[in-house]
Amino acid sequence: MELTYLQGYDDETLDGVRRLVERGGLAPYLAAKYPGCHPHTTNTLLRGYVEELRRRHLKTAPAVARVEYDERLVAGEAALGLHTFESRVHGGRLRASSGIRIAGVFRRAPLEFLRMIVVHELAHLREREHTKAFWRLCVAMEADYHQLEFDVRLWLTARELGEFQS
Ligand SMILES: [Zn+2]
Repeated sequence: MELTYLQGYDDETLDGVRRLVERGGLAPYLAAKYPGCHPHTTNTLLRGYVEELRRRHLKTAPAVARVEYDERLVAGEAALGLHTFESRVHGGRLRASSGIRIAGVFRRAPLEFLRMIVVHELAHLREREHTKAFWRLCVAMEADYHQLEFDVRLWLTARELGEFQS
């Protein structure tokens, strides 16, 4: 069984996931741990949520100019969301503006998963690359960051395997 969303995790972990899938336990595990769905289903609501987290955790960073779900953005091994930086000449000065796009699959997802994705993209406002400082920032904003990222990847795996009805 190919676990495309879980590349980079060690063999022991992957074997554990395969055993869980084989005995039909993956979807029940996720449903029990993460019941329900977040309410931020429109771009406007998503923008409000991102701004709330930014104000709470990254007060000194400028507000994100554009925030939206992108149905064309397929959640993959590398990209669960996307941050963009744009430089524009504005009033004779070079101005940078940032944007966050979230893969459409997270429009209907547990709140914890959306938060993990948003935290990741917000951390890119400070650190463009996945450096140690970047991961420290993610954990500072969300203490369970690494567990949540793993569970997001389990959730994407379960969806790919058709374990959920939706
Ligand atoms: Zn990233």
